Amino acid sequence: MSAETCQCLVWTIAEQRDGALKDVSFELLARGRRLADKLGTGLASVVIGDGVSREAMTELVERGADAVYSVQDPRLAHFVCEPYSNALSGLVSAYSPSVVLAAATSSGRTLMPHLAVRVRAGLTADCTELDIEEGTGLLLQTRPAIGGNIMATIKTPDRRPQMATVRPRSSRPLPRDPARRGIIVDVPVADSVMDGRVRVLGYRKDADGSGCVEEAGIVVAGGKGLKKAENLALVRGLAEDLGGVVGASREAVDRGWIGYPHQIGLSGKTVSPRLYVGIGISGAIQHLAGIKTSEVIVSVNPDPDANLHKLADYAVVADAFLFVPELRRRLAARKMEADNHGE
Ligand SMILES: Cc1cc2nc3c(=O)[nH]c(=O)nc-3n(C[C@H](O)[C@H](O)[C@H](O)COP(=O)(O)OP(=O)(O)OC[C@H]3O[C@@H](n4cnc5c(N)ncnc54)[C@H](O)[C@@H]3O)c2cc1C
Repeated sequence: MSAETCQCLVWTIAEQRDGALKDVSFELLARGRRLADKLGTGLASVVIGDGVSREAMTELVERGADAVYSVQDPRLAHFVCEPYSNALSGLVSAYSPSVVLAAATSSGRTLMPHLAVRVRAGLTADCTELDIEEGTGLLLQTRPAIGGNIMATIKTPDRRPQMATVRPRSSRPLPRDPARRGIIVDVPVADSVMDGRVRVLGYRKDADGSGCVEEAGIVVAGGKGLKKAENLALVRGLAEDLGGVVGASREAVDRGWIGYPHQIGLSGKTVSPRLYVGIGISGAIQHLAGIKTSEVIVSVNPDPDANLHKLADYAVVADAFLFVPELRRRLAARKMEADNHGE
């Protein structure tokens, strides 16, 4: 169904950095497409930012959108909650979508509650499953509750839109289909969109700016077992070898060894990588809350009773200061061998 012939009642919020769309934008479209098809409606993606190219927006169409609402302005280049929420609430009022989905990233988790208050709607955060209820057409929003012991399914019978955030990397993007057609709607940005109480003084790059842990396919995380800040170099080195991103326990962050954006767990980020390696991390329940959805978990800890070992697919009972350098040496040897064979 195309945007010309139907209203798009299901929306996803795309994310961009420096004008490049993040993968999570396409993951959300895969979720949204399924819901829109079940409801027999169209799917729209909203892009707020600056410098997002026509090609990038066409990719949103090729991966499932019927319409793209493009809200572009140099003043929206970086995520700031109030202007983004102003822009979105204006669009929601104008087009009345039934479902709005965003990623459970730092910006999605900040924006959606703000928007929910603005439009007087509910919000279910961190959903793992989304579906449409037979008969009523209501959005079924499923998420872990009571410390992960039960899965709760939440419905929003009265308020609209039905709003949910979804964990990054919890679904695969649809393959690109160059035959898909959709429309790109340029939304003008009124000066009032920029109204807000936040004044941005500048942006500072994270010293460990190797990437965002939430979206990383490989995460190598360090904890208090590393003893001191300099030893985090072990973790950084292994992360680099594996093409991954550095994460940390709260103990490591509280000691000032690494910045808060790298903290994984209940009061930090939730990660869902293909591979998570925890080095010198005991596996406190608050840390495990952030890594449970990782595909493969490796734990490196000399204590055989460490909690993280119990959850791990590979529990390495070893001293990190001996094991990690040896692992890196072997990875380097294997890489050299592969290079020599022209693989
Ligand atoms: C409300 C609340 C929210 C919290 N949120 C978070 C959160 O978001 N994220 C988080 O991580 N924590 C969080 N915590 C803290 C959490 O309870 C733990 O204190 C913390 O996760 C422990 O960090 P750690 O594993 O690095 O340190 P420790 O628990 O001290 O573990 C260090 C581990 O290193 C091992 N070790 C020692 N020497 C070596 C060596 N040579 N090689 C390898 N391993 C070694 C030890 O055997 C030990 O298991 C929260 C706590 C509360 C109360």
